[in-house]
Amino acid sequence: MMSTNQLDSYSGAQMVSFDFNSGQVGDLIMDGIGRGVIFVNNDGVLTSINRYALSLLQAKKENVIGKRVDMLPLRTPIYRVLSEQRSDIPLAMAFGKRVVAVLSKEVKSAEGITIGELTELWDITDERREKRQWEEFVVMMTHDLKSPLTVIMGYIQGIRLGMYGEIGSRIEGLLEKVEQSGSSLYSMIEEILDSCRLELGLKKLNRQPCNISRLLEDCCRDNLRVAQEQGLDLVFIDKAEAPELMADSKQLARVFSNLISNAIKFTPSQGQVLIVSWNLEESVHVSVSDTGIGIPPEDLSRIFFKYYRSAGATGYKGSGLGLAISKAIVEAHGGIISVESTPGAGSSFIVAIPLKASEEFEVEN
Ligand code: ADP
Repeated sequence: MMSTNQLDSYSGAQMVSFDFNSGQVGDLIMDGIGRGVIFVNNDGVLTSINRYALSLLQAKKENVIGKRVDMLPLRTPIYRVLSEQRSDIPLAMAFGKRVVAVLSKEVKSAEGITIGELTELWDITDERREKRQWEEFVVMMTHDLKSPLTVIMGYIQGIRLGMYGEIGSRIEGLLEKVEQSGSSLYSMIEEILDSCRLELGLKKLNRQPCNISRLLEDCCRDNLRVAQEQGLDLVFIDKAEAPELMADSKQLARVFSNLISNAIKFTPSQGQVLIVSWNLEESVHVSVSDTGIGIPPEDLSRIFFKYYRSAGATGYKGSGLGLAISKAIVEAHGGIISVESTPGAGSSFIVAIPLKASEEFEVEN
């Protein structure tokens, strides 16, 4: 008979089988693993933890081993780590000056029966610091790129307006193209800058009373021409009875414009893009749904990562930054953004934003 907390598979590719109750040998193996490892059985009891995990979480073995997770002192790093919801993507958690990646997996016996949950931990403080330095460099560099481009664009507009004398129609046509390329370059720089700024916490929200119904109407109007050109129906159903919220309307408009333009981009002609707004509890909800190409289930949790594009997006223009920026803006408002999708049938992005601003969520300046 197998012991109830025997781990049969660990870390996917590796197949290791050992008994956590077998005392010293089990402890030696656990301590030899280059990551923090914690095992919690089906009864919610922490039955095994290695030395690395104890040191990362500043816990003492005798205080945690054999304890039920819900009996551990609240607010301690170990309680916070073990009470997180399981996710197939590592979560970054900050404990004082250290940042720790946390990944939990269900553990099954050889017979396929769930026997508990294995949590892996590793220190990403240095990685984070390097990423931050890189992002600070990108912010500086993109900011410097913007200044000469603004000057170039200014002169082109001046020439087109005839401020420096008459220009022929051929030159006018060429300048129009230069101006178009210049503004796409400008938008790309702005996107990169904004995504880094939001990540670095440098962007402060400018909250003002904002009417979500009006904001959505404007976003729909801005996208209507492209939708019609693509042979799509763009429909807005406004059911929000309390549409006023304290929000940064410019930033929220970017979120919804991005969701609507994505919906248009990824929907073949004859399709529909439907925007619905409604109130639920103390929040306003907006869904942007389409009848487009959809997103494979394995990509759903990754499309909000910077630069991540689903394989199905090959051939469609884009930078892979829009959703990452949208998520950062929604979360800075204390809201959440989620997605549901069926490949080949369509996608639905849902944004929920609290009506009242909570300082807790404000992005620091
Ligand atoms: P971009 O659209 O510039 O590629 P985003 O960050 O806005 O970047 O979106 C990331 C990815 O998410 C897209 O490349 C695409 O794979 C997927 N995606 C986003 N919205 C949709 C949608 N409405 N339908 C299908 N796929 C989508």
